[in-house]
Amino acid sequence: MRVAMFSTKSYDKTFFESLNNTYGHDFTYLETRLTRQSAALAEGYKAVCVFVNDILDAEVLRDLAQKGVSLVALRCAGFNNVDIKTAHELGMKVVRVPAYSPYAVAEHTVGLMLVLNRKIHRAHARIREGNFALEGLMGFDMRGKTVGVIGTGKIGQCVCELLNGFGCRLLAYDPYPNQVCRDMGVEYVSLRDLLTQSDIVTLHCPLMPETYHIIDDTAIRMMKPGVMLINTSRGALIDTPDVIEGLKDGRIGYLGIDVYEEEGDLFFEDLSNEVIKDDVFSRLLTFPNVIITGHQAFFTGDAMQSIAETTLANIAAIEKGETCENEVTLEHIKD
Ligand code: NAD
Repeated sequence: MRVAMFSTKSYDKTFFESLNNTYGHDFTYLETRLTRQSAALAEGYKAVCVFVNDILDAEVLRDLAQKGVSLVALRCAGFNNVDIKTAHELGMKVVRVPAYSPYAVAEHTVGLMLVLNRKIHRAHARIREGNFALEGLMGFDMRGKTVGVIGTGKIGQCVCELLNGFGCRLLAYDPYPNQVCRDMGVEYVSLRDLLTQSDIVTLHCPLMPETYHIIDDTAIRMMKPGVMLINTSRGALIDTPDVIEGLKDGRIGYLGIDVYEEEGDLFFEDLSNEVIKDDVFSRLLTFPNVIITGHQAFFTGDAMQSIAETTLANIAAIEKGETCENEVTLEHIKD
């Protein structure tokens, strides 16, 4: 199939090219993000292959459909950036990679917790300056601490497995509890109980209308003073200005994020020679107890291999008119 791949980086091309000879798809690799302006580049293609910050709202989808695009192949699990209802109305198929490596994201999540807790980022900077003092670097034992996991699907389950190894007490909130988690001793509680009891809160639910700003001022006020908040899921799960207020008065003791609500204009690009115009993001950078990574939790070689394999197979299945088990349907967005 002729596919226009948007938001392509060198590593995407490397993995897709190395596996595509078995499939023989015809890829055009475009560095630009898919937006209303760049949708014109999809003229003449049957499919677009897109990533987390490409925009596929109703207007872009209608434009793509007019240009002959009938397939959206997501190189990620989340599909919050695609207007699924409009795609369905246009007869456009949407496929995704529902699971490539939950381990990659879960391990990065726990990595953020450990860096924040033991202040490894600050220790690294100090040692390079010849400062070997320990003042300000004190952490806490993970063992015995209560971690609240919001969303216990594939990634949340892996996070629970890793933290079980640390001897943490695990609380979870998920409308669909996971038996594997229950069997390992995870206790399902209400969101309020999770927020009031947890020393660390970590987010692993999808971004949907019900989870938009699930962590806002009201939620922060329920949390233990000095709580650690981790978000490796989607930026808009947290209300960043509210979290900044929480950090300023100490209600939030640590913040680790791999995602940011307005990341579309920042992440995945080298902006080191430019002025960052996002004042909210810039404020986050001033806190010593905040760690930010640029949506890299998924980024392991194992995960990239799996993303390329599944995406190529998804496109092949749709091309042959076969049922694709990774198709996103209206079922996925019904509440
Ligand atoms: P999943 O579908 O396996 O699990 C999501 C879980 O969230 C499910 O158990 C679901 O029941 C639960 N859930 C739904 N609504 C909820 C609510 N209102 N409150 C609490 N829980 C709710 O998905 P997954 O593979 O575990 O991925 C989770 C999220 O991680 C994705 O939606 C994506 O946004 C994010 N993600 C981030 C990266 C990254 O690189 N940072 C990579 C992959 C995925």
